[in-house]
Amino acid sequence: MRKTIIPEYIPKEIREFIVPFHKPFLVYKCIECEQEYDILQFLYTCPRCGGLLKIVDKHILRLKRGKEFWKKVFDFRKISRISALRGVFLYHEFLLPIVPLDDIIYLGEGHTPVIRCNDDLASELGFYFYVKNDGQNPSASFKDRGMACAISFVNYLIKEKNLKSVLGICASTGDTSASAALYLSYLPKDIVKSVVILPKGKVTPTQLSQPLASGAKVIEIDGVFDDCMKIVESIAKDYDVCLLNSKNPIRIQGQKSYAFEIAHHFDFSVGKIVVVVPIGNAGNVTAIMEGFYDLKVASVIDDLPIILGVQSYHANPVANWFRTSRYAPVKVKPSVAQAAMIGDPVSFPKVKRLKEEIFKDRFLVVDVSEQSIMDTMIFANRFGHILCTQGAEALAGLKKAKELGMLPSDYEYVVDSTSSQLKFSGFQMAYLEKRLHKDYEITPKDEYIDLPTELPKDPTYIANYLGLKKK
Ligand SMILES: *Cc1c(COP(=O)(O)O)cnc(C)c1O
Ligand SMILES: [Zn+2]
Repeated sequence: MRKTIIPEYIPKEIREFIVPFHKPFLVYKCIECEQEYDILQFLYTCPRCGGLLKIVDKHILRLKRGKEFWKKVFDFRKISRISALRGVFLYHEFLLPIVPLDDIIYLGEGHTPVIRCNDDLASELGFYFYVKNDGQNPSASFKDRGMACAISFVNYLIKEKNLKSVLGICASTGDTSASAALYLSYLPKDIVKSVVILPKGKVTPTQLSQPLASGAKVIEIDGVFDDCMKIVESIAKDYDVCLLNSKNPIRIQGQKSYAFEIAHHFDFSVGKIVVVVPIGNAGNVTAIMEGFYDLKVASVIDDLPIILGVQSYHANPVANWFRTSRYAPVKVKPSVAQAAMIGDPVSFPKVKRLKEEIFKDRFLVVDVSEQSIMDTMIFANRFGHILCTQGAEALAGLKKAKELGMLPSDYEYVVDSTSSQLKFSGFQMAYLEKRLHKDYEITPKDEYIDLPTELPKDPTYIANYLGLKKK
């Protein structure tokens, strides 16, 4: 490991805090029976009652040092030369503070751009918004946030517990597997292997190529994500593997960084912000809510933002629950927001608690049509925004929530584009060429159709075709 160098110009009173200093007391805690478990192990559900686990730092109140303190620490850390803190571990004290800097795996994740929409788009829509583009992560989705944390933890446990072999395993709608395979491939191959289980034909070709190229064992099954998830849950229960789905609360810890970055971006004042998040397995929305709540508990922010979850009509169990107060899994139908095409989200019990106990009327959910997702994706692209289909789903949801009068008008809106648009360009191309399968229930709009024109390789011909005037 390289020696840490802290630049001279970092103020004296902050210097000693640039290298993380907090001594945490982390435990796994069951959200149902509240039993606590030692953190130094892989654990995904409560051995006593089967409930979901969350990670709790029993020393979190020691982080109550005031907003101004944390602003300085995070800002100066950002410009320090400590590579372990360049990614999501910038927020080390709030992420997984047991992992020593030497064990942190940093592949370039986090700190994704927040882009403001232009005046034309705002006037078309009737409101301004920002996109936080999580497609700009190493494997091109937000899953890298959680994976950087989980794989750093694996790396730490390998040393701490002298593990001789670790098999990382996950079910995926495409992005978790890309991310898990990438991060696991960075660890020593004589110890670490990776396996991903995918629903055949229900991840995009780009997403399929990613774990294959990283050297993972890719297993396809005939079914949807929910079927894959049941298989890995069963394997993780009975065999010695490391489950890398967001059911693993270590993943959730890493994904909290999305909330921390938004808070940081808006100067730790988020009480008048709506964060718009597509919901699939509900890990991400859980992490974002928990992340903001942690900041509030430590008094780094004063007020919670509003969280708006969005689903497609074709995979909307959480939206149904929001409407009716009754939860039931749904049978999913084909969705262009394929990465969120999940009928029975594993983290739903966490979402329910977070709403009922903490966020209350500051957590909202809407669902949107497949048509509006594709139209919104291309519409936004016409104004300089690259959204994946899930990001477009989120923006379509924001539009709908505004139209329904669900949101205050003096707030700022941040839309989570969760993945790279390019992973989903196949849906875009199929829309433009009017060949989306009828099950998506999408009719391409003529105003959005744009196709290549083939011309002779002759500059004069092309100039004439374009109606150019000679100089
Ligand atoms: C995984 C994923 C989602 C859904 O996130 P959950 O944590 O499963 O709710 C949304 N968009 C993209 C691009 C994803 O990869
Ligand atoms: Zn329990």
